[in-house]
Amino acid sequence: MNLCCNTAKVEWHKIVWFSNCIPRHAFVLWMAMQNRLSTQDRIAIWKPNDVMQCAFCKQCLDSIEHLFFTCVFSIDVWKEMQKMLSVNMSFSWRSVVEELYRLPNNNNIWSIVRRLVFGVVVYFLWLKITGFEVKESKTVKEVEDKRNVEIQRRKSRIVSNSLVV
Ligand SMILES: [Zn+2]
Repeated sequence: MNLCCNTAKVEWHKIVWFSNCIPRHAFVLWMAMQNRLSTQDRIAIWKPNDVMQCAFCKQCLDSIEHLFFTCVFSIDVWKEMQKMLSVNMSFSWRSVVEELYRLPNNNNIWSIVRRLVFGVVVYFLWLKITGFEVKESKTVKEVEDKRNVEIQRRKSRIVSNSLVV
């Protein structure tokens, strides 16, 4: 039994897998690129009687294309990303992949950022639609409060040490 698949190399592999990629983002993106995510259009094939609708817009079945590019929620996310990156991309899975593939995929910082942003957006949209909680990072206020407590602790240690001497 051969466990190693000898499948053809796909053209888009450098969009997903590169040295600076975030593995969990790359994995979801890799699944999406192969249309392997459990979207409702795929589930409906083996569960045709289930009533399903996109969790974002509640207007139709979700699919890779809908979830990531044609849903009103996703379009708003991409528009914000485009503003932040000062890029202009079309709103279709195929054309974005083609555009990213055409651009240089190397160690140039913008090449890395472009691919990271694509992976991050796909990953977080997928987490949002599947309802998985993303562990929130600490807010600036929480970090500042913790730092202030540590500073106070050090000051009091210095003061108490100076009193002992
Ligand atoms: Zn939708």
